[in-house]
Amino acid sequence: MTAEKVLEHFKQTGALLEGHFILSSGLHSPKYLQCALALQYPPDAAKFGRAIAEHYANERIETVASPAIGGLIIGYAVAQSLNARFIWTERENGAMTVRRGFSIKENERILVVEDVITTGGSTRECIEALERRGGKVLAAASIIDRSNGAADVGVPRIALVSLEVPSYKPEDCPLCARGDEAVKPGSRTMPA
Ligand SMILES: [Zn+2]
Repeated sequence: MTAEKVLEHFKQTGALLEGHFILSSGLHSPKYLQCALALQYPPDAAKFGRAIAEHYANERIETVASPAIGGLIIGYAVAQSLNARFIWTERENGAMTVRRGFSIKENERILVVEDVITTGGSTRECIEALERRGGKVLAAASIIDRSNGAADVGVPRIALVSLEVPSYKPEDCPLCARGDEAVKPGSRTMPA
């Protein structure tokens, strides 16, 4: 699956919007990403899952693990494609942990999968939680890399698409400077 195809699907499903947006942080951006919209239909999620899984066909991955919630659907799809087990980590009192009675055996070969990597923070925390339990995390993967390759998660990493999503303080926003009105994503109906 080429990066172009992935982006096309993201645009078609409204998962990637282009315009002038007010992010939840209050910053402005010419792009808005909502991965969940690209994964609504199981055959689409399966396609992305296969595209990531292809990179690990010979790695003898025993388990795919994802940080909840963002990584759950794509992680599950990758696990299905690799015929591996799927588990997840989640926050408990702010700290990423392995819960739900999931057990990990010593040196279990694990691939960590996320929908989007921005700074790599949640992937890194997920890896640490798995390694504290004895797992061996071989690699990390995501559909989108918003860091443009910069995020370092301590293990080899791939993404189907590398995407720069700039954000600006309103007072520094070049789109505002041009006189464009910023909108909150979802506040306008999508163009057909
Ligand atoms: Zn602006």
